Amino acid sequence: MLRDTVRRFMATEVHPLEASLPHDAAGLPREQLLVLQEKARKLGLWAMQTPVEYGGAGLSVLGQVIVAEEAAKCRMGAFFPALGAFGGNPPNVMFKAPPEQFAKFAQPIIDGTATKAYTSISEASGGSDPARAIQLKAVRDGDHYVLNGSKMWTSHAENADWGVVYARTGEGRGGISCFIVEKGTPGVSFHRINVMASFAPFEVHFDNARIPVGNLIGEEGKGFALASDFLIYGRIMYAAGPIGIAQEALDMACRWAKDRDVFGGKLSDKQGIQWMLVECEVELRAARLLMYQAAWNADLGKDVKVDASVSKMYGTEAAFKILDRCIQIHGALGLSDELPLERWYRDLRVKRLGEGATEVQRVVIARELLR
Ligand SMILES: Cc1cc2nc3c(=O)[nH]c(=O)nc-3n(C[C@H](O)[C@H](O)[C@H](O)COP(=O)(O)OP(=O)(O)OC[C@H]3O[C@@H](n4cnc5c(N)ncnc54)[C@H](O)[C@@H]3O)c2cc1C
Repeated sequence: MLRDTVRRFMATEVHPLEASLPHDAAGLPREQLLVLQEKARKLGLWAMQTPVEYGGAGLSVLGQVIVAEEAAKCRMGAFFPALGAFGGNPPNVMFKAPPEQFAKFAQPIIDGTATKAYTSISEASGGSDPARAIQLKAVRDGDHYVLNGSKMWTSHAENADWGVVYARTGEGRGGISCFIVEKGTPGVSFHRINVMASFAPFEVHFDNARIPVGNLIGEEGKGFALASDFLIYGRIMYAAGPIGIAQEALDMACRWAKDRDVFGGKLSDKQGIQWMLVECEVELRAARLLMYQAAWNADLGKDVKVDASVSKMYGTEAAFKILDRCIQIHGALGLSDELPLERWYRDLRVKRLGEGATEVQRVVIARELLR
């Protein structure tokens, strides 16, 4: 029922709206977004990951991945599922924040009055091993922390009302703290970094930026532990978008192959093409079932560290391979901006690196396997 509701919303509200936007549009203009969000809210499609007591839908992890799969099935879907219609969830670490901090920063996101917040971990010194690589310095000075240094590759940073930034207050893993950085803080500047994806992340530069002590999330030095608690669920969710997109691409490739004339027959008559489609179908089924299994086990309260890594790694790798084959089946048209395929291809390339690259997931799986 949930899947059908999202599918109907995508068909009646999202696809017609998206058709009028440029191929590489990154998000909806605010006025249009608010109208779309209001429609989604009326259907109960709102803040899916947020518990009901805070005004969210409080879906199970399995419910969340099903919504995420369907919401990704639009041209912008890899990074703007359902064009942002289903509202923002605050960064997960906020659920560990004290009530007054939650009310001030997280609640407006859930209520739809503040923008999505960014999360800034990676730096030029590396993203895979942040416990070692984070160098952005935070030094206590009275009732403020003074931040100096730079973050890299932070998505959606410039226009956000606030973001979560990880900085170093001491040595090693226990020396990382987590701060809320508000828009307009003097000394914080944003610089666009162009990448192959359909949107540009930002370098966030801190030059003696003073952050109130009240904006420290949790205790000083506990930032890394705070983030790690939520990393695993993020990884399960992360595979859902690519899997939804790969399904959409495969459906397009089947339709195209049945329609396209070649060598006196249809493309779909050729066994070489059929086998490409079959590879896609089998990988897609495997990816989806691995993701559902991880989500289901998470809902049962099991330890899903390995399930999440397997799901993230296999799902994002399979989706990228599927996109590549579907573009090949479409020929030159697949590479053009007449279709969403080439945009999805660029966006899914990023997904193999984000939220713990494929190699990082392999490290997690190998560690458990050999333990
Ligand atoms: C479009 C985009 C948006 C992004 N958004 C954000 C964001 O919002 N917030 C944020 O904090 N970051 C963001 N990132 C950064 C992303 O999380 C990092 O790029 C990623 O974590 C990898 O870090 P790195 O690029 O520094 O590569 P490195 O950590 O330097 O790794 C380089 C390569 O080595 C591999 N590798 C690492 N360790 C091992 C190992 N032990 N064995 C084998 N291979 C290994 C990696 O998988 C990778 O392929 C974004 C990146 C992009 C491109």
